[in-house]
Amino acid sequence: MRLQDFTDKPLDTCTDLELFNALMRYTTAAAEGRGYNEGKKKLYYISAEFLVGKLLSNNLINLGLYDAVRDELAAAGRSLAELEEYEHEPSLGNGGLGRLAACFLDSLATLGLPADGVGLAYHCGLFRQVFEWGKQAEVPDLWLTWGRESFLKPTGRHYTVHFGDFDLTSTMYELDVTGYGSRCGRLRLFDVDSVDEGVLHSGIGFDKHAIAKNLTLFLYPDDSDDAGRLLRVYQEYFMVANAARLLLDEAVSRGSDLHDLADYAQVQINDTHPTMVIPELIRLLVERGIGQDEAIRITGDVCAYTNHTILAEALETWPAAYIERVAPQLMPIIRDLDERVCAATDDDPAVRILDDRGNVHMAHIDIHVAHSVNGVAALHTKILEETELAPFYRLHPDKFNNKTNGVTFRRWLVECNPGLTALIDARIGEGWKTDAAQLERLLDYADDDATLAALAEVKQANKERFSSWLEGHQGVSLDTASVFDVQSKRLHEYKRQQLSLLWAIRTYLDIKDGVYPQRPVTLIYGAKAAPAYVAAKDIIHAIITLGRLVERDPDARGWLRVVMLENYNVTAAERLIPACDISEQISLASKEASGTSNMKFMLNGALTLGTMDGANVEIAQLVGPDNIYTFGLGSDEVIAHYQKADYNPADYYRKDARLAEALDFLVSPAMVNDADGTMLSRLYGNLTQKDWFMTMPDFESYCATKAEMLVAHENERVWARSCLVNIAQAGYFSSDRTIRQYNEDIWHL
Ligand SMILES: *Cc1c(COP(=O)(O)O)cnc(C)c1O
Repeated sequence: MRLQDFTDKPLDTCTDLELFNALMRYTTAAAEGRGYNEGKKKLYYISAEFLVGKLLSNNLINLGLYDAVRDELAAAGRSLAELEEYEHEPSLGNGGLGRLAACFLDSLATLGLPADGVGLAYHCGLFRQVFEWGKQAEVPDLWLTWGRESFLKPTGRHYTVHFGDFDLTSTMYELDVTGYGSRCGRLRLFDVDSVDEGVLHSGIGFDKHAIAKNLTLFLYPDDSDDAGRLLRVYQEYFMVANAARLLLDEAVSRGSDLHDLADYAQVQINDTHPTMVIPELIRLLVERGIGQDEAIRITGDVCAYTNHTILAEALETWPAAYIERVAPQLMPIIRDLDERVCAATDDDPAVRILDDRGNVHMAHIDIHVAHSVNGVAALHTKILEETELAPFYRLHPDKFNNKTNGVTFRRWLVECNPGLTALIDARIGEGWKTDAAQLERLLDYADDDATLAALAEVKQANKERFSSWLEGHQGVSLDTASVFDVQSKRLHEYKRQQLSLLWAIRTYLDIKDGVYPQRPVTLIYGAKAAPAYVAAKDIIHAIITLGRLVERDPDARGWLRVVMLENYNVTAAERLIPACDISEQISLASKEASGTSNMKFMLNGALTLGTMDGANVEIAQLVGPDNIYTFGLGSDEVIAHYQKADYNPADYYRKDARLAEALDFLVSPAMVNDADGTMLSRLYGNLTQKDWFMTMPDFESYCATKAEMLVAHENERVWARSCLVNIAQAGYFSSDRTIRQYNEDIWHL
């Protein structure tokens, strides 16, 4: 097969769209030719998000067609790189949780495991972030309008979903998930034909009451009012009602008599959004003649739950009245599950499914019924067991287990960093692409000057590549001789973009006093804030405002740049991460469940500046203290402060003049004159009076550790050696390893 076989026009006369669609037809045909992973028992990975990233080049690489297609296009005077730019990234996810789901699909396919991702086909996805007046504004991301035919295969499968006062018919679409040199898997996305982008009005606003028209418009519709919250419950029930029917139909068609369903199907519940699959499966089994006790037991044997967060506000609860309205058929089952919990635990209120205010605790359903409960990094699982979910751990100790997250090296190294890939291939061969532990062989080159110099050259080339990409996208040009210091992830106070911001202010003030860093630093942020998250938007505004101020100041401009990348997504991450020198992983210890960008940065030869949180702890163990820069309070200390409620930011403000000066600068005329003073003073008040995520106590050690790092960076050879050790030890963080562990301990596919 050649690309030319998939279009009637000569390649050189095709429009970009025609070429792109021909490429998608080509990869689809090649994927279908490979066939799909099959087996008696199949996994259904149900997730509200799949942050898959652009598909074209990833599929070409996995199918082994990349070089041939690039050459065929070049011979016709066309450029694969331009078509990669032309492609629109599917908007089906938000951050780490959705990207994890996408990495898992890649590994499942590559490892030959029969598995489907199951989710929703959001028409406008999350949102596209644009900056207006130095603030985040949201516009609909019409990716599906751009490429419905290119991206989604219709299947002809439909289900009727019964809501409290009306029915909707679903349509199932498929997206092939190519494995690396292997057969394929599928992502199955449900939609409703009646959904109508015409209900959108200004920005991402729309009529929240017209469920038939808006059900699958957005991922995480604004939940700051009742109508928005109710819509999320509609979405969740729609997702799992379809998933449950699909799973039962397929299991029966493979020979299950339903009593043995767990031999035919496993469900992984990715965070609590798909929790209603549990009562729904129980309901469907009972409807098909199985007794309630057995139906609960079977459902428990089928379902496993992954917890992704210990932030209390992120553990979903829904008023029972909402579920009563959306899916009244589930409430008798949820009440029955709650009564069973009460009977077994002497009415212990801490572990009840229904609380006395009439709220349903989704995670509690998962933990009581599912056969496995896992955290996503060693520290996170330990905190779940010992603190956050301790009463549940005492009840069900055997269910708890850890599965440290991972990322697919096909996308996060082979695709995004061809220079480094070639360097590694030349030294240790290509086996690491499917057996990541082989990266350790790079340690043989830890003292090889030529390898270390080549590593530094690759980094420099990636910095230049990123800079020209950014110039094209945002009109910002960077000093590629500066240190690229990067914090890119969702904007959240616990992730503490405000901490690196305070460092930037401090550094600016020092420069004004004639104290300069070793070499110029470019601090690069990429972050979207949830549309209703006021404090996060204030931080974005402060970052952009500071960036403009430094930019205008001839004293500072040559030494410090603060850049906020617009609309951070997988495409941006793939450009940015290979270009990074310093990877900022500075969440308040105990708050980041795992993190996965920390792994991507490490794999691409950046050094971590981080707290002992999430998977940073495991990174530190693997690379050793010489090859990571850690600082700040430990998780035990943080947990103790919360328990004693003894933290007061004013103490630090009073004690530390350098910190106080940096804070005060937020509301100084230099900042406020060019900005929204209300937002800046709200941020100032938040930090000086509440500082819920303890920025102040870590400020001094953060600044000192970063200073140490900037000194270390000046020794090119030693720095490159550290980068090499990080790359060599990153093998543990391959999602292939994570998925093997899920399969061995939980799914047994
Ligand atoms: C990996 C990734 C994330 C997760 O980042 P964390 O730092 O682990 O929160 C978020 N967004 C995108 C686009 C990613 O690729």
